[in-house]
Amino acid sequence: MADTSLQPGSARFLDAHCHAGLDERPRRTSVIGLGHEARRARGWVVVKSHLGSTASSARQARALGLPVSGSVTLNPVNGGVHWRHVERAVQEQGLSPLRLIAYLPTRVSIGHMSADSAASSLISDGPKLREEVLDVLAFARDHDIVVATGHASRREVELIVAAAHRLGVPRLIITHPLLPSVGFDPSALLELCSAECAYAEVTALGIRLGRHDAITAARVLRELPGSIFTSDFGQPESPTVRGWLDESDRYLSDGGLDAAAIETVRRINPLQLLAVAAVDTERKEDAHHQHLAHPDDGAFREE
Ligand SMILES: [Zn+2]
Repeated sequence: MADTSLQPGSARFLDAHCHAGLDERPRRTSVIGLGHEARRARGWVVVKSHLGSTASSARQARALGLPVSGSVTLNPVNGGVHWRHVERAVQEQGLSPLRLIAYLPTRVSIGHMSADSAASSLISDGPKLREEVLDVLAFARDHDIVVATGHASRREVELIVAAAHRLGVPRLIITHPLLPSVGFDPSALLELCSAECAYAEVTALGIRLGRHDAITAARVLRELPGSIFTSDFGQPESPTVRGWLDESDRYLSDGGLDAAAIETVRRINPLQLLAVAAVDTERKEDAHHQHLAHPDDGAFREE
């Protein structure tokens, strides 16, 4: 089955942040294994690794008919923040119905531990964003790539959102802003995201680990038009794709989201952010319901 025959528009969900395959720490399953789980659950996953690009392994998974796409993480171990590393991942990705996600750093260099090792890799004196970060934003704008803020702090995120707005970057994900390590509360986040280009991510992992509660998560998901719900799973003890769906149904309904709101943050918004072709939500909705009525009629059959 060719890459392009996979249709994310008919997926039941799109998890834009899941760890699998080779990484700096053990993962529950491989990219191929995760792809099989996603196909069985009739969804789509975007794979992430702190080591760098997952674009080529995701491409191999798609060649097997599996609903997977890739990302690149601009960590020191992968050469750091430079648009060339994003360019390479674009080449690796080939044809994909979903845009590549380029993560700003999630790790500091373990090879250069010093008093400065915890200091920002994104900000230079001023404080302002380093040129390399601005170059990545401009490259993403020109090549239809989605930038994610990685493990940037709240102050860094504020600078990145402002720069993305200034440079005309159409799509930016604020990566799990409710985690204490990033440091947003819902009110500050809602204020920041009045800039149209920013999507805010809420993760099941954040709730599962008790970093924030389901009520806080649901407030952001309900009130922010561009919010997406992801898993951030892949840890050896974390659930399967199906398990994530069940667990997140619970979290989101506990937080007061109804079925339509869950659909918005787990399928429609992620598709609008990532799908290369425009998503006709109404028509896909019909296809989705027909699809649910015929559970054996798989959208991702290998033919
Ligand atoms: Zn993650």
